[in-house]
Amino acid sequence: MDDLGTERRLAEQGGPAAEGGPVATPAPAEIDVAVVGAGQAGLSAGYFLTRAGLRSGTDFVVFDHSPGPGGAWQFRWPSLTYGKAHRVHALPGMEWAGGDPDLPSSQVVGEYFRRYEEAFDLRVLRPADVIAVREGTGGRMRVETDRGTWSARALLNATGTWDRPFLPYYPGQEGFLGRQLHTAGYRSAAEFAGLHVVVVGGGTSAVQLLMELNEPGGAARTTWVTRRPPVFRDMAFDEEWGRSVVARVDDRVRAGLPPQSVVSVTGLAATEAVLAAQARGVLRREPMFDRITPHGVAWDGGRTLDADVILWATGFRAALDHLAPLRLREAGGGVRLDGTRVVKDPRVHLLGYGPSASTIGANRAGRGAVREIRTLLAGGGGGTGAAPGRSVPAAVPLPAR
Ligand SMILES: Cc1cc2nc3c(=O)[nH]c(=O)nc-3n(C[C@H](O)[C@H](O)[C@H](O)COP(=O)(O)OP(=O)(O)OC[C@H]3O[C@@H](n4cnc5c(N)ncnc54)[C@H](O)[C@@H]3O)c2cc1C
Repeated sequence: MDDLGTERRLAEQGGPAAEGGPVATPAPAEIDVAVVGAGQAGLSAGYFLTRAGLRSGTDFVVFDHSPGPGGAWQFRWPSLTYGKAHRVHALPGMEWAGGDPDLPSSQVVGEYFRRYEEAFDLRVLRPADVIAVREGTGGRMRVETDRGTWSARALLNATGTWDRPFLPYYPGQEGFLGRQLHTAGYRSAAEFAGLHVVVVGGGTSAVQLLMELNEPGGAARTTWVTRRPPVFRDMAFDEEWGRSVVARVDDRVRAGLPPQSVVSVTGLAATEAVLAAQARGVLRREPMFDRITPHGVAWDGGRTLDADVILWATGFRAALDHLAPLRLREAGGGVRLDGTRVVKDPRVHLLGYGPSASTIGANRAGRGAVREIRTLLAGGGGGTGAAPGRSVPAAVPLPAR
């Protein structure tokens, strides 16, 4: 492939590297692999691509629309300290001793990711928003971004979920006179001082935020509502349990159904802090309300409750809108995967989706996907629209993790 790298591409399309004005509709730059997203999954993929002998910026490009390193971690609320996060695994190939448990996870993880990108010269193109990926010519895909268009033979999509907060609809929602927000917009408990906050949702975020809101200086009162009674697990989340959880999520994804939330499979962790909060009555759950009134929430049967704030801790969905033109979804609403490979289009892998939506899963997904992509690029695999083979750099053994 000629050296139509990122800088030249930007120059041709009037981007930051351009000296003159934009050039009229240049042909898209040809690359082998487009990696969308530079979170745990995208960086892991970038690492294994470089280990396979592909060069960042020429053979593959990592696109990310966020301002800095860290994936979604850079946006997590400041009170989610590193000590409060579940285990965050190191990226492949670079040890990580962790960080100060009292610092925000956004800072600790962001700094580690920044060092990682530098160490492996991953040259993430940011901010670069991938707007759409559609069928191109010659079995390639057109990757359309706000920084220009690329033409790729394979796509490793690692866009996570943070960009698609999920908000269910309840009657009366638009008429609520208080504040409504999703956890994605939460910053600190101090914002809610003196207020009554209704927290909606049965996941880990809801539990963590309820505990925080009930600390001194936080909300005057909280009410916790969930659709189903929460299940707290006091058993160790050991490896065997982890494997069975992953297998259950994997079964759904293989069947083309949308992935389940992890907590619906694992239950909630009954940590010491959680048990203490339960003992203080902070985690007393009520059934989901049926409607929202201008001043609060209401249940069928006549009960009403005044509230100042409704905090929707209702999770996220996979951010896949930019892939819509490829028509990857099945009738069941999900994207059917075999491992990370999209069954309908083997040029496309979804990393960090379904069973690989954890920091350890994302690492493994990157490794497995790159192994398959190398076969595809070498002409040994493919199917739907895959371009005829071009030899890739001689196989470089991949590391063990
Ligand atoms: C509150 C919270 C706490 C969590 N805590 C833990 C934990 O402690 N341990 C754990 O293992 N997991 C945790 N998880 C799950 C965790 O998010 C994942 O395990 C992992 O970090 C996700 O990595 P990722 O690379 O898939 O996605 P992300 O980190 O979300 O990265 C996706 C990247 O894609 C970019 N992007 C998205 N769309 C586009 C586009 N169209 N164009 C260009 N770029 C795009 C985004 O800017 C982002 O940088 C947590 C999740 C949440 C919501």
